[in-house]
Amino acid sequence: RSAFIALSRNAALRTFSERSQLGRRMSSRFVAGMTLDEVVHAAEALQRLGIASTLDSLGENVTTPNEARHSADIYHRLLDAIQTRPTMNANVSVKLTQMGMDLDPGLAEEIVSGLVDHAVAANTFVRVDMEGSEYTKATIDMVRRLHAKPGNRGHVGIVIQAYLHRSQEDIRTLTGDGIRIRLCKGAYKEPSNLAFPEKKDVDANFVKLTHQLLTSGIYHGIATHDEDMISATRKFVRENNIDPKTFEFQMLYGIRRDLQKSLVHDGYNTRVYVPFGTEWYPYFMRRLAERPANALFIAKSLLKQ
Ligand code: FAD
Repeated sequence: RSAFIALSRNAALRTFSERSQLGRRMSSRFVAGMTLDEVVHAAEALQRLGIASTLDSLGENVTTPNEARHSADIYHRLLDAIQTRPTMNANVSVKLTQMGMDLDPGLAEEIVSGLVDHAVAANTFVRVDMEGSEYTKATIDMVRRLHAKPGNRGHVGIVIQAYLHRSQEDIRTLTGDGIRIRLCKGAYKEPSNLAFPEKKDVDANFVKLTHQLLTSGIYHGIATHDEDMISATRKFVRENNIDPKTFEFQMLYGIRRDLQKSLVHDGYNTRVYVPFGTEWYPYFMRRLAERPANALFIAKSLLKQ
């Protein structure tokens, strides 16, 4: 896992991979395409299976304000695409470092605020993804400010990572404001004073936090491919007479498609996070880090082509 996470930050390998045809073919397992048309097409295909989507234009840690504004333009085009397809159940996810957070947090906030205004007009929703722990507090503070603006309630949400020790407290604060949360385990490398190092502890916290979310009266997303986490959620919902329509399961594009379909079949709201764009490399490497066997799987499927 650590090796793939380290490789995800390797600039030379990133440039080489993103430009090569082979790299693009490899990434297509987890990335819906390079263009906006391709991602809309993927969302429409999911919708035909009864699955909603979250559209994500790949990119993170931009280094100039122009790059940040360019990233925002793509999101405005995505929101336009959603607005002109009122029957499509889609929203968007953004990363603050893609909106200039490392350069100027004020710029990032201005940009995301503009996206939330657009989402309000399009009657959809902006989810701010959670990145490494150096951004946790700033992300929470910004989402709370944006959510508190008149008209924005229910149109902007956040992600909480079950591997962080602080998450229970953060959920208390955010649900107190009525903010919608996506709960995931967490995809970055964190020190043990901030995050549980052992999978069993992350899993136990995930279950505990799921209970906290499902009893909050707010529509949240439970984002996992872990069958144990999904079974625990289903059991809790059954035993506590929670309406399955008051939350959704979320998974990533290309991962456990069988499970996605079976959740829909069993009547659960299900949403898939659909990333697209040329800057796929760090995202792709984090997916390999979660399941190194994926590297072998992808290599085999390329050899078969
Ligand atoms: P794991 O314990 O990692 O895996 C359980 C099982 O799921 C594995 O045994 C395997 O069968 C399957 N599985 C898991 N990952 C893969 C994979 N890559 N390929 C194939 N099978 C796999 N993380 C963040 O830090 N910030 C975010 O904003 C964020 N947003 C996310 C949004 C969504 C919709 C989802 C689903 C995940 C998101 N993540 C995010 C990633 C998340 O934190 C985990 O790294 C990732 O979901 C793997 O954890 P898991 O719950 O699936 O369980």
